[in-house]
Amino acid sequence: QRSSPAQAEFYQAAEEVLECLRPLFERYPHYHDHSIIERIVEPERQIFFRVSWIDDAGRVHVNKGYRVQFNSALGPYKGGLRFHPSVTAGTIKFLGFEQIFKNALTGLSIGGGKGGADFDPKGKSDNEIMRFCQAFMTELHRHIGPTCDVPAGDIGVGGREIGYLFGQYKRLTGRYEGVLTGKGLNWGGSLGRKEATGYGAVYFAQNMLAARNEDLTDNTCLVSGAGNVAIYTIEKLYELGAIPVTCSDSRGTIHDPSGIDLELLKQLKEVKRVSLEEYINERPGAHYISTQDYPENGHAVWRIKADAAFPCATQNELTKSDAETLLANGVRCISEGANMPSTTEAVDLFLEAQIAYGPGKAANAGGVATSQLEMAQNSSMEQWPLEKVDDKLKEIMANIYQQCATTAEEFGDPTNLVLGANIAGFRKVADAMIEQGVM
Ligand code: NDP
Repeated sequence: QRSSPAQAEFYQAAEEVLECLRPLFERYPHYHDHSIIERIVEPERQIFFRVSWIDDAGRVHVNKGYRVQFNSALGPYKGGLRFHPSVTAGTIKFLGFEQIFKNALTGLSIGGGKGGADFDPKGKSDNEIMRFCQAFMTELHRHIGPTCDVPAGDIGVGGREIGYLFGQYKRLTGRYEGVLTGKGLNWGGSLGRKEATGYGAVYFAQNMLAARNEDLTDNTCLVSGAGNVAIYTIEKLYELGAIPVTCSDSRGTIHDPSGIDLELLKQLKEVKRVSLEEYINERPGAHYISTQDYPENGHAVWRIKADAAFPCATQNELTKSDAETLLANGVRCISEGANMPSTTEAVDLFLEAQIAYGPGKAANAGGVATSQLEMAQNSSMEQWPLEKVDDKLKEIMANIYQQCATTAEEFGDPTNLVLGANIAGFRKVADAMIEQGVM
């Protein structure tokens, strides 16, 4: 029942999952007896807190902080922290809900959680970012721990922020332990974690295409976003012989028909942290489309003709009208690096067209899976070589694809990986909840 407009994104995510569960419940009615649906849509715990911090001019600011500990049937809560001005309790609830099923699909022992704040990191100095992270952790530290809740990064939270958060956790608790993932490489981080979500989304696309006797070689690819997930999606696409021709940020889109200059992109976004508009100063052959010039009801990035598309920025960034254009232009594969980037109507069109469509909760699970590998390294005090982490990531992505495909087949809709992902993820969590008793 929809009772709060502030939770629109959560209802969208929940409705997609619940719609897919119909055939499972028809075949296995015992899930009804245990009221699993009623229990799974309700977070075990939601923590809302004040984050007060002081800017460089000495002024006090107040932001809203959140952590939702959604479901611990399969393991400690695990899920990222998002710092973005658009963050609300509803955003964190939707992301936490998705995280339950994503984490289940990885086959690893991790429950679902998510957190963040309505803080805008744009235009803040390093010292302001540090003071914000310290203030955020001053409250969060009492709710997390290496065997109960292990946050990671998400939009606006990368290596720099994880460093400041970890430093404050250590200062407050006196403990040096694996309480966050995405850490620096010389203080407990895992090789390959930074790259994992983007690489994983491309591995997922490879698996979907291989099942159709196709691959990504020489494919023109569209990527949205210019952050952690987008950059490493582009890197892996190049390694596999594809040609990524776009990226985007919150102000506009770059179309570089000869292929995105990856080193320039990293320089602009990872080092200088500036707008993509500067890209065309170095690459005169590329075009910049400002958000003001985006088509009505859609995003410029999806209006370019391509073989495959990788939405890697944010939720609902690919609309029905974008999906119609992509399909009319002959797209064969969509693999979602972001969480819920396609609207419900867009997803329906992809499923109807029976193209290779990998929903975010399956296609972007490589990040959280590698976070769990970081936890395993921390608890055994080891650091694995990059090849070992990357081999495991490939294996995990192949397993996730197989689970989605075989479950879709089992329920009579073999190309529908949305159905496969939701049923396969749900079943694992629901069975564990039943075995652990009502709580
Ligand atoms: P980053 O903050 O590194 O990058 C986000 C990118 O998307 C930036 O280029 C940003 O633009 C752009 N962006 C963010 N919000 C908007 C918006 N409202 N409209 C337009 N553009 C926007 O985040 P990540 O790359 O880590 O995350 C991207 C997506 O991937 C998210 O959906 C996240 O939940 C998902 N994800 C991330 C994982 C990870 O390991 N990091 C794991 C699984 C999923 P600008 O540069 O202007 O800020």
